Amino acid sequence: MKQKLLISACLYGENVRYDGKNSLLPSEIFQKLSKKYDLIPFCPEVEGGLETPRVPNEIQKDGRLIDRDGVDNSDAFEFGAIKTLQLCIKKNIKIALLKSQSPSCSNNFIYDGTFSKKLIKGDGVTAKLLKLNSIKIINETEI
Ligand code: SF4
Repeated sequence: MKQKLLISACLYGENVRYDGKNSLLPSEIFQKLSKKYDLIPFCPEVEGGLETPRVPNEIQKDGRLIDRDGVDNSDAFEFGAIKTLQLCIKKNIKIALLKSQSPSCSNNFIYDGTFSKKLIKGDGVTAKLLKLNSIKIINETEI
């Protein structure tokens, strides 16, 4: 039986990004992963209750998730992260391939909260929660 791999739904090809598009992995990589793993796509932001397309959100210095229009979406992000963790526990998922630079999924860099395209070191809300629960995370640049 293949090991399960949680994968950001946008990397899997689902149109769940804030702009209504996807971030599908190159086909060669996707095929290799499919052979090795049982891929389980999931989008924490959609599962948390946010619409697609949606106004982009960034993590603020105080930890809140605010969109570019000033709306506080912290609850939806946290709910999505909890649902992701629950899925991992239920399906015994120990490793996740998550999209970099996302306020939910990133395991390396996030935008600095000023909507000026400036990246800083940091984890997205979901990535942070999964890490705290010993789930290994890699992003699409680390495959
Ligand atoms: S929350 Fe994660 S899965 Fe959903 S669109 Fe953003 S990066 Fe992709």
